[in-house]
Amino acid sequence: MSPIHDQSISALSAALQAGEFSARELTEHYLGRIEQFNGPINAYISVTAKLALTAAEQADERLAAGHAGPLTGIPIAHKDIFCTNGVKTSCGSRMLDNFVAPYDATVVERLQAAGMPMLGKTNMDEFAMGSSNETSFYGPVRNPWDMERVPGGSSGGSAAAVAAGLCVAATGTDTGGSIRQPAAFCGVTGIKPTYGRCSRWGMIAFASSLDQAGVFARSAADAALVLQAMAGFDERDSTSANAPVPDYATQLDDSIDGLRIGLPKEYFGAGLDPGVATSVEAAIKEYEALGASVHEISLPNAPLSVPVYYVVAPAECSSNLARFDGVRYGHRCESAQDLEDLYKRSRGEGFGTEVKRRIMIGTYVLSAGYYDAYYLKAQQLRHLISDDFRRAFEQVDVIMGPTTPSTAFALGAKANDPVAMYLNDIYTIATNLAGLPGLSIPVAPADGMPVGLQLIGDVFQEGRLLNIAHRLQQATDWHRMAPRLTLA
Ligand code: GLN
Repeated sequence: MSPIHDQSISALSAALQAGEFSARELTEHYLGRIEQFNGPINAYISVTAKLALTAAEQADERLAAGHAGPLTGIPIAHKDIFCTNGVKTSCGSRMLDNFVAPYDATVVERLQAAGMPMLGKTNMDEFAMGSSNETSFYGPVRNPWDMERVPGGSSGGSAAAVAAGLCVAATGTDTGGSIRQPAAFCGVTGIKPTYGRCSRWGMIAFASSLDQAGVFARSAADAALVLQAMAGFDERDSTSANAPVPDYATQLDDSIDGLRIGLPKEYFGAGLDPGVATSVEAAIKEYEALGASVHEISLPNAPLSVPVYYVVAPAECSSNLARFDGVRYGHRCESAQDLEDLYKRSRGEGFGTEVKRRIMIGTYVLSAGYYDAYYLKAQQLRHLISDDFRRAFEQVDVIMGPTTPSTAFALGAKANDPVAMYLNDIYTIATNLAGLPGLSIPVAPADGMPVGLQLIGDVFQEGRLLNIAHRLQQATDWHRMAPRLTLA
């Protein structure tokens, strides 16, 4: 039998129900692996061993009483952007290094109610701004496949933790690619649902019209189970969708015979690494063998998504991050002279370079003299980008392409070149601007590094995306590959 941390959630759940091991033993297994391997990977900012063991014991009681659900006793990690009651919630920033959340985010609360012990909080780019996890106050995360490379970002800790078997699944958030891009770099499955599918309550806001919570797991089938428990209306988040959540697990085995796959020509042009292209094309061939047909489509405005995003997202971030003022919570400078000094030094000391850059861009594009030229224009283009997808989904059922233009790059390679860093999300950002669901699954590696295939669906089609991903994972073994780890 393969090691515990290579097994699916349903296999682990069956073993728990059969009493092969207890939830406590399973949680101890993962805590042991974190102890052994997390040091150099740096996937966790906080490890909450005591809380995890208490939750695992409660799960064991539920199991013994016959009240267990499919996730009872399955250990999870949460991105440190989600508020966790009584536990440090840093958002990867010095600003919140001293912040202990007084409540749980809805997503956390729901996964807890499903019986999933929380192992800890995962590392991330500061305030989810980044594509490499190098902007974290807690230091970079290293890619478990090659410790000299980045894991992607901003949810790099969650992706690396799942890839290294330091948790069964993990939550993440995706504003412009922060679930799909690290999932691709670390060789795991990652899904960003439709905007509004999961509550944003208690999820520290970056760009409110784009932010969405999702899942990292070892397979689409595992992700389906976790998403099921997270998704759904929350009256505390006015943008959460008041629409029923279908049963994702029962959809997984649906036929994909006759599936129409759209390949956007803009996603296969210049800038795409040939090794990544080859792996993506091989996966699409598999889909054809499974009965799908392939159609070239065009998303003519997609190439504008990066510039549009870097107006809209900073604008929203400049507003959202105004709350960190040194008064109510978070970092406060020493011996402030007056209120202005308190604001300036608290924010100056608390935020890192990338966050400051975004706040400045955002404030600029929203200012009276530049609003029409930048912010308004970006909003207009955002509409055109959405319209491109609407037209595409009149012709095809799903859009596929690479998740990223290259495999994981070296630590430090783009750290001083913001534009090169921003271009990592060239294939993922349009999805957020249009509010659509997107998923990344591992396909054949290129030069030994994982490659992600991206699937984009129409609104609320996450069940179909998981089904399409699952069918490929039943026919291939790419998602079963795991990195060889070195001891901490
Ligand atoms: N890499 C993008 C950024 O830096 C997206 C981040 C995200 O999705 N949170 O903003």
